[in-house]
Amino acid sequence: MAFPLPCLPHLHATNIYCIGRNYADHALELNNPIPKQPVVFSKPTSSLINHQGTIQIPETTTELHHEAELVLAIGKTGKNIPPQQAISYIAGIAAGIDVTDRLLQSQLKNEGLPWLLAKGRDTFAPIGTFHTNMDEVDLTDIDVTIEINGDEKQNGNTKLMLFPVADLIARLSTVFTLQPGDLIYTGTPAGVGPMIDGDHVVCTIKSGKQIWSTVAVTVKKNA
Ligand code: ZN
Repeated sequence: MAFPLPCLPHLHATNIYCIGRNYADHALELNNPIPKQPVVFSKPTSSLINHQGTIQIPETTTELHHEAELVLAIGKTGKNIPPQQAISYIAGIAAGIDVTDRLLQSQLKNEGLPWLLAKGRDTFAPIGTFHTNMDEVDLTDIDVTIEINGDEKQNGNTKLMLFPVADLIARLSTVFTLQPGDLIYTGTPAGVGPMIDGDHVVCTIKSGKQIWSTVAVTVKKNA
């Protein structure tokens, strides 16, 4: 089922690429090394939910984590995109949450297995409304924040990215042909932590007082 991208009426979600460990302070909080090149994984489009949706905690999950992220939507096809042109491939930016079954991810990591089962379940990719006027946005200075029940849990800034947005697009496009509707979850700053049944979670990307996108969701344990 095609997932229309909010405020990008001509686009549906195509592929979802996610970047792991793109902020040094987050890599260190999970005892991971600082990567020399981007850590890349993906989620199925069936994991997407909109603003005011509900994250369903699977029955088998004991530790569900939030990861607040800046998400890019790709607007045109590109391969081997030079970093200087990368920004022109972005159709919009949104707040997104990379929902993670942390305990399962640790087990998979220890066994050298892919993270998909811990990252890709239904409702594990909330996405906000896209801000589409890219001329207004400095992608190297965006605050990425998350609040749970009104308490701030994460507050990072894209200037702390190990691989900035233009670099990520350029590197991904050496491997994958980027397509209209592709989403890139660009990694999370420090402060990841648990979400439980009944939580109200609000992820925002902003520059100063200017809010570019928000995604608010509730969390529900499957009965
Ligand atoms: Zn993430």
